[in-house]
Amino acid sequence: MADFDVPVLNEYPLIPKLKEGVMAHSSPFMAKAEFQEQLGFPGELPDNWKEVAIDKMGELLGKYRSLQVFLDICVHCGACTDKCHYFLGTTDPKNMPVARQELLRKVYRRYFTFAGKYFPKLVGAVDLTEEVLDDWYSYFHQCSQCRRCSVFCPYGIDTAEISMAAREILDVVGKGQKYCNEIIGKVFVIGNNLGLPEPALKDTLEGLEEEVEEDTGVKVRFPLDEKGADILLITPSADFFAEPHVDGLIGYAKVFHEAGVSWTMSSKASEAANFGMFIGSYENMRRVSLRIREAALELGVKRIVFGECGHAWRVAYSFLNTLAGPFDFLDQNYPIPQHICEFTNNLINENKLRLNKAENDHMKLTFHDSCNVARGAGMGNIEGGQFTIPRDVIKASCNYFYDMPQDTIHDATFCCGGGGGLLTDDLMELRVKGAQPRMEALKQVTDEHQVTNIAAICAICKSQFAKTLPYYGFTMDQIVSVHQLVSNAIVLKGSEQEAELDGETE
Ligand code: SF4
Ligand code: SF4
Repeated sequence: MADFDVPVLNEYPLIPKLKEGVMAHSSPFMAKAEFQEQLGFPGELPDNWKEVAIDKMGELLGKYRSLQVFLDICVHCGACTDKCHYFLGTTDPKNMPVARQELLRKVYRRYFTFAGKYFPKLVGAVDLTEEVLDDWYSYFHQCSQCRRCSVFCPYGIDTAEISMAAREILDVVGKGQKYCNEIIGKVFVIGNNLGLPEPALKDTLEGLEEEVEEDTGVKVRFPLDEKGADILLITPSADFFAEPHVDGLIGYAKVFHEAGVSWTMSSKASEAANFGMFIGSYENMRRVSLRIREAALELGVKRIVFGECGHAWRVAYSFLNTLAGPFDFLDQNYPIPQHICEFTNNLINENKLRLNKAENDHMKLTFHDSCNVARGAGMGNIEGGQFTIPRDVIKASCNYFYDMPQDTIHDATFCCGGGGGLLTDDLMELRVKGAQPRMEALKQVTDEHQVTNIAAICAICKSQFAKTLPYYGFTMDQIVSVHQLVSNAIVLKGSEQEAELDGETE
């Protein structure tokens, strides 16, 4: 199946023997000039590229004090070395977080520190050359910006931030990544990552309405661009058609229906994802976020709810107000924005949803904490809500739930292997190898509790698992959406299922 060696799954995690340079060949395709220019970047390496790159580094160091602190304070203690899934899966020492940081740090030292300027060899400082740029392009695209290493660093050094800075520098010298930059362009022109235009979106949603009515006997609406609705749902475009994402969207619609709220989606902001974060570009992240503000204002909604998307939730929870606020025109009595899991969980706690767990009895579930939710955001008004709320929703919808080993969940969760703008087929080897630590944990819980399915609240994790599960002896349909479980279990008022259940209890 693969033209590379798929890592074996061990009984317990092993620190691999180093294989130097084993992933040096791994680089994503570069963006064409037209897509670079659309985002305000040069289409090719400019003549004065070195000056441009160093100026950009200086600008970023001035703008983000954390970046300079991270580059200055590492004591090379090694605590992060075996914490990265890409290192564990690939065995390439440059995928150790500290080694990845060094790629940028040694250039930083050369141009921005006294010792590096005058005694470069003494402090391991190097000149910026095209070879160094190529190394950056390769290894900063072997980091999913998942922040796991930062949890274990005694100084809290965040390699994700260093990797974002490196990608931003690469962009300004014309070395942008095809996958991310072309997608950002599509969001600006069409409104979503998939390039799905408004008529196609409308058609898809009408199709879903018919499907749910056929299935349940209840007309559950999937409204688009409805002015005056109370809630604007912002969801990843994968939710509109791909499995298992679309089953999650059906779940949100059923929840809104049962809650009796008016809601809508928007063709202008038909995408929750914000790849501006992956390429480290504040300007592009802002432009993508502003569509949400504009859609909310045009539709006159009172609340914004986000669907299941990991990094989108990080941008929404942590930065949306800075990027596109103030949201003073929304109802201040609700979280701005709110996660769909919190919305559903509140209804469950208020006994406003009837859930028949037995509908999910054909599955034994575990839950994958998506890294951007786990380490880049919160959820609800409680500490650790990003861990407990999705689990509470699953447990309210299913009879069988088992967590994976403790050191692979919550804030120690392993990335799926496809985050941070790496979910592209040209990085398949990296994605499969990077998935190894998560697959190992899944195997453990499968062996112990006969788990059949893994649930997630991130579009990237779902797509990544659908592709990589088969490499490890699982099947692609083992990955499910959390709201797919809700959708299966929810008993809609007036549905055939309600009649059946009530008939049984009479
Ligand atoms: S754990 Fe932190 S201080 Fe230690 S080597 Fe890694 S980045 Fe440096
Ligand atoms: S942020 Fe994640 S992917 Fe990047 S070096 Fe750290 S652990 Fe590895």
